[in-house]
Order: sequence, then structure tokens, then C-alpha cells
Amino acid sequence: MNTWVYIDHFKGNVIPASWEAIGVGKTLGHVTALVFGSGVEALAKTAFEYGADEILLAEDVGLADFRAEAYATTLSKLATEQTPDLVLFPTTTRGRELAGMVAIDLKSGVMVDVITLDVTDGKITITRPIYAGKLLTKETCSAKPQIITLRGRAFPKPAQQVGRSGTLTKVSAVPGDFPTKVEGYTTSEGGVSLTDAGVIVSGGRGVSNNPALTPPAGMDDKQTELWRAQQGFALVKELASALGAAVGASRAAVDAGYVSYAHQVGQTGKVVSPDVYIALGISGAIQHLAGMRTSKVIVAINKDPEAPIFKLARYGVVGDLFQIVPALTAAFKKKMGK
Ligand SMILES: Cc1cc2nc3c(=O)[nH]c(=O)nc-3n(C[C@H](O)[C@H](O)[C@H](O)COP(=O)(O)OP(=O)(O)OC[C@H]3O[C@@H](n4cnc5c(N)ncnc54)[C@H](O)[C@@H]3O)c2cc1C
Repeated sequence: MNTWVYIDHFKGNVIPASWEAIGVGKTLGHVTALVFGSGVEALAKTAFEYGADEILLAEDVGLADFRAEAYATTLSKLATEQTPDLVLFPTTTRGRELAGMVAIDLKSGVMVDVITLDVTDGKITITRPIYAGKLLTKETCSAKPQIITLRGRAFPKPAQQVGRSGTLTKVSAVPGDFPTKVEGYTTSEGGVSLTDAGVIVSGGRGVSNNPALTPPAGMDDKQTELWRAQQGFALVKELASALGAAVGASRAAVDAGYVSYAHQVGQTGKVVSPDVYIALGISGAIQHLAGMRTSKVIVAINKDPEAPIFKLARYGVVGDLFQIVPALTAAFKKKMGK
């Protein structure tokens, strides 16, 4: 099978799920990596080190910023000329947008957020979660090329083989007066890369529930809640830092103003698949589970033994997080020599 893999990158950093997609392509046959941008040749060559046999590099000032129309026009033209069997994208915002546009151009369909992929007699069958992760659906697509976005961390990342090389072909971008113009970027919050994290420590509404803490005098109820949440999230962050983990949160914690939206996990937040997900003071509402149920090991600490999160957790601790988390952090720090 001749597979194309779209390498998603931003400001010189490749989204690791692109390498995972190369790994999937290699199990099916020949892999061509597609790298679009400006000044990205060095970045493109890394695709060889993750297993790409060939690279199609489109460099143009018009591709300097990701703009779906410009990228899709070039990708669709290449695919029309060279007829790959399969085009893989990482399930990122850019990957989803581009896959949808290319599918329309090529009169194909898209199977999004795929977590398993099997090939029998040249026919691909995929699995993907639907209804907020409550059900898994099996699907096939009869059109060619088949277009699929792969959920990050659902497939293994191939080992990097430094110095590995292959055939790099420079291709032209399709010029056009595309309506989208990028005006600039602003950082929402630094340091949070939930979707790439191997370990995530998340806090929920329970993180503000430590009545033993006496707030400074003169605070009203809301200020007291936020002050307590700040103390509670300090524990979440300390445990995350001891484990080299990213910090996540439930929507209740985000809506109440404990942490920013960039941390939210769930149906209306980020969908994550870490090796370990530690839920602190999170009840496990279906909308939260939708964002983390494919985590490989789930650990929950909650003082309510009936909390739904325990139905999904591999390890559950029924108790007060304010007593358990500091002890856990100290134990991890000791174990990891920190
Ligand atoms: C359309 C829609 C979209 C949504 N999207 C999302 C989403 O993307 N992500 C999301 O998370 N939610 C989402 N929600 C909200 C979701 O339904 C829940 O309201 C939310 O997940 C609850 O957050 P929580 O578990 O932090 O709070 P709660 O449900 O209030 O749970 C707090 C938990 O903390 C425990 N606790 C309290 N004190 C302690 C303590 N000292 N020690 C240990 N445990 C303690 C309690 O026992 C309880 O289980 C969405 C809802 C809707 C309707």
C-alpha cells in the first residue's frame, strides 16, 4: 500500500503524532511524508529518521503559515496526480481541517480520530470512539484515497534512526489568492502539552475542598473557594512536576476559574491518551471520561467510594486528596531521586 503521511508542525516543532502516523504507514508498505511550509527542509528530513521512504516537500512563502485552503489545494493536486492509496493525518485541529477539505476535493471520505486500523485484502477497517467515547464504531471507506486522521498516542511512535535517509522531492505549491490571512499568534498559556503528555495529573472541583485551610481574613465565599483551589492546584502541580507530567483539569475546575481552559480534558476540552492519568477530586462525569477513557492506566483519588471515575480506574484510592497527594508526591520524589 502506498501511504502518504501529512507531517503537522508549528514553529519548527513536529507534532509527535505525525511520527506515529509514519509508523502506521510502515506496517502497510511504502511511506511518503508530506511537508509543507517555508524554511522547513531540515525539519522535513527528520521524517526519514522516523521511517519515511520518500518526502514531498512544498516550500513557499504562501505556505509559511498554516492556511487550510492553501495547504489543501496543494495536497489535493499532488494526490490527484500521484494517486496514493491512503493519506494519514494526525488528529490535530489542523489535521482535521485539512483532511476534511482534501476529502471534498478528492471526492473521498474521512475517518477521524482513529484508534485501531486493520487491513484485510487491501481493505482498511478502522475503530474510532463515538458518542463521547461510550461506543466504538468499526468503519470502512470504499473511496480512494482513503483518508484517515489518527488519534495521538493511540499508535506507537517508531524509534528515531539518526542519519537514515531517502528520496526527497521538491514540489511546487499551488498559487492562489486564498481568503484566509494569518494576522499573528498569541500564546494562550505556556507549558501545557496535554495531548503529547505520557503522564497527566488532573484536578477537579474536589481540589478546592479543603475546609481545614483557613483563608486570609475578609474573603467572601467565591474568593475563599478560589484561594482554596489555588492551594489545591499547587498540590496537583507539585505531583505533576515530580512525575514530569502535564496538568489537566475537569470542566468544573475550569469554569470555576481554578485553572485556564488550556488544561481542560473532556468532550469540550482536550482528548488525551497518556500512559498514566491521575484524577484528583474528579467525579468522572461522562463528558470528562470522553476525553481520557483511552488512557492506558487510570488512577483516581476521591473521597466518595461511589464516584463513577472508580468504574474506569485501574487503581482507586478512596480518601481525602489533601492527605494522600502530599504523601504520594513525597514518595515519588524519593523514588525518582528528586
Ligand atoms: C455539554 C457539556 C460538555 C461538558 N464538557 C466537559 C468536559 O470537556 N470536561 C469535563 O470535565 N466536564 C465537562 N462537562 C461537565 C461535566 O458534566 C461535569 O460537570 C464535570 O466534569 C464535573 O467536574 P468535577 O468532577 O471536577 O466536579 P464534581 O462532579 O463536582 O466532582 C468533584 C469530586 O471531587 C470529590 N472530592 C471532593 N472533595 C474531595 C477531597 N477532599 N478529596 C478527594 N475527593 C474529593 C467529590 O467526591 C467528587 O466526586 C460538560 C458538561 C456538558 C453538559
